[in-house]
Amino acid sequence: MKKIVILGGLGYLGTELCRVYSGESWRNKIIALDSRFISERVSQLKDWNIEFFQGHILDKSFLDNHLSDADVLHHLAGVTDVAYVKTDTKYELDERIRKIAIDGTNNVLKSIAKKCKIIFPSTHVVFEGFEYAKKNIKEQETPKPVLMYAKSKVQNEIDIRNSKNNYVILRLGSVYGYSLDTMRINIMPNLFSKITSQNGTIKLFSGGKQLKSLVNLIDVARCMKIVEENENINKETFHLVNEQTTVREVAEICKKINPKVNLEVTDDEAPNMGYTLSNKKLLKTGFKFLYNIKDSIKQMVDQWSFKENKNNLEEIFGGTNEFIDKRGKISNYELPEPVNLIGYIESKKGTVRANHFHPIQEQKCLLIKGQFISIYKDLINEKSHRITHIVNEGDLIVTKPNVAHAMVFTKDSIFLNLVRGEREHKNYGITHTLPYNLVDSKDRDNLLYFYKFDCRCCGNINLKRVISLGFQPLANNLTNSRKDYVEKFPLEMNYCENCHNAQLSISVDSKKMFKNYIYLSSTSTIFRKHFEDAAKKYIKKFKLNNKSYIIDIGSNDGIGLIPFKNSGIKRLLGVEPAKNLSKIAIKKDIKTFNGFLNKKNLKKIRKNADLILASNVFAHANDLKSVAECMIELLSKKGTIIIEVQYLLNTLKDLTFDNIYHEHYNYWSLTSLLYFFSKLKATIVNAEKINTHGGSIRIYIKKGKKNKINKNVKKLLYEEEKFGIKKFKTYKAFAERIFQIKKNVTKNIKKLKNEHSNIIGYGAPAKATTALNFFNINNEIDLIIEDNQLKHGKFVPGVNIPIISKKKLKYKNIPVLVLAWNFFEDIKKNNTQISNNFINIKSLEKEKY
Ligand SMILES: [Zn+2]
Repeated sequence: MKKIVILGGLGYLGTELCRVYSGESWRNKIIALDSRFISERVSQLKDWNIEFFQGHILDKSFLDNHLSDADVLHHLAGVTDVAYVKTDTKYELDERIRKIAIDGTNNVLKSIAKKCKIIFPSTHVVFEGFEYAKKNIKEQETPKPVLMYAKSKVQNEIDIRNSKNNYVILRLGSVYGYSLDTMRINIMPNLFSKITSQNGTIKLFSGGKQLKSLVNLIDVARCMKIVEENENINKETFHLVNEQTTVREVAEICKKINPKVNLEVTDDEAPNMGYTLSNKKLLKTGFKFLYNIKDSIKQMVDQWSFKENKNNLEEIFGGTNEFIDKRGKISNYELPEPVNLIGYIESKKGTVRANHFHPIQEQKCLLIKGQFISIYKDLINEKSHRITHIVNEGDLIVTKPNVAHAMVFTKDSIFLNLVRGEREHKNYGITHTLPYNLVDSKDRDNLLYFYKFDCRCCGNINLKRVISLGFQPLANNLTNSRKDYVEKFPLEMNYCENCHNAQLSISVDSKKMFKNYIYLSSTSTIFRKHFEDAAKKYIKKFKLNNKSYIIDIGSNDGIGLIPFKNSGIKRLLGVEPAKNLSKIAIKKDIKTFNGFLNKKNLKKIRKNADLILASNVFAHANDLKSVAECMIELLSKKGTIIIEVQYLLNTLKDLTFDNIYHEHYNYWSLTSLLYFFSKLKATIVNAEKINTHGGSIRIYIKKGKKNKINKNVKKLLYEEEKFGIKKFKTYKAFAERIFQIKKNVTKNIKKLKNEHSNIIGYGAPAKATTALNFFNINNEIDLIIEDNQLKHGKFVPGVNIPIISKKKLKYKNIPVLVLAWNFFEDIKKNNTQISNNFINIKSLEKEKY
């Protein structure tokens, strides 16, 4: 066992050297000495099993105590370890340098035994006296020191060579690299990196032509250890430099990393034009440099630059570099930072952990067994939302500091918590971890009950997250008072790469949403017209007569069947789960079955329909397969099912993210519909685009697999494919643009509010709940006018904006923000008596409205 002493072990280089030796401390005795006491670094040394003693190089008995039995001495003590005293005159400072460097080194040489090998970092500055730009200076060149620092280093070299000890002198180039040591911030590459991180100005004296030999801090520490260990390297001097460059070249690297940084060239005289050292002798020993200036500057700029916490607040990684054979699998996880503690944590199914944040530490958890739902929220951005995602076995999840997080375990689980820093149980809630109530017991129950782990369409469990709009209230569950408790559920869209179905991450119980439904289709003249036209078209196309039997699934207040009734067709049946809507339809003399379409209710409904309509319900069904099978079963042999559903292609193209709400479990394209029906005993025979709900698709379905297919199907499929409906990057691009929209709206509504003290909204459809909650607009809008009387006197959930009837409006001629944007022109035309200033909410989504 060797005794290795690092003198100056708390300094810039000393800290790095201790780190390099930290892996050695089990077989060699490592001791660090320093005149300072820096608490954080001393405890770090303890963690590395390195003993520390504080004492001064001019204290001979201190040196005798620790050096006399040393086998190796890394002598890093020098003037940079002495606090600079401002009142020092130049003479006093020189004296201090001289004393510590020369007297100190002589003290050291006296204290060590003859067997002790000295590793001494000298400096390239010993050649500072050269008046011209000399290149590739070799070790045997005679030094030409000018200032006291260089003079003392030259004297040290002489004294060490004259001792009887083995030694290696390493003349270092400019040492650079990231460290916590603020004293070394003024080294040129470090200083330039700092300026770069602050978008500042880099000044280049004499055009930055001075030559520099550079070497990275870690390479210096590595080299010191390697020459120490190599018994064949004795009584030698090496130039330890890597890259040779001009100051300007370093500045240009900075400019490339951050174009905002300024380079200012001045004509000031530089003290000399610099010089470079040759590293040939060192390279001959086999030493290899691992770090270069470009990557190091990048790293430093990165460490110091402000970065907005964007989408990477919490990330999930799988293992990489998998190696699989008969014995099993090996995979690697590369951590973003070293760890010093591993917590082993078991959690029972149905329990919650975390509900806290770490002000400084990054959290890294590797799930060994089980599954949990992770919920997180950025605490720095007040308009941020809670976001969820699933963590499966083998996933590593990394959460940034100041991100509140919680884990809801869906299975009995085991995870490892990989920590850098302390995680004392007694400090929970005090230092490393602070409580934050992100998920309460109600949220937990909802998540456990409603979360979807697989694709509704094909069962694939590897769904990809498209966008999270945060936890949101159910869009149509308007509240009766501001004080009403509002349940919120994640509103997040996932994409299935297998069948291309886009869908929500959860399925809120349909009974919660559809029991007392307030969406009245007949309120809208546009919808009435739409269904009248559709009925006319179907009567003609399918030659319907008074013997025909027509079923409308999700028949609402009867809007879709009334045109058929008016044409004399009597065998009509509505199927509607909302009790209040069924009653309204029955009053209008439309026979209506009040209930869901499912296997249990199927026997209560007469079969052999010639036409089955399902408008805007297919997105609403969680148990899709069952609904589709029931429809097929109700259909006559030659009958047709016609489904109208919001069209994903429009949502993605037109950025109508407000089509996303909990009632819409699925977001269909023809591509995914085709996949879905290919598994059933039916065929999609035709498809067409229609313009309801900001863009919908209408498909025609016949029983069996042997049907003639209209060429429209192929045409539309091609259009979808061309748009990128089968590529995940299309969905990611959509999400990015939606977040840009949020930024724009937030900015624009602020501006609008500054110009007008009152703003009112028009229309409170479900899409308005989504948009207002996503944008976090609440007191910016005073109230909302709505034509549907079922909504009067209620509040938009989550943002608590009151909804009133037009008659009760007291304001005149103030801005009206039209939230029901798909009816903008109608609303503007029909309400000239309220205001002359109508603004479409969609126009606020642009950068400038
Ligand atoms: Zn799928």
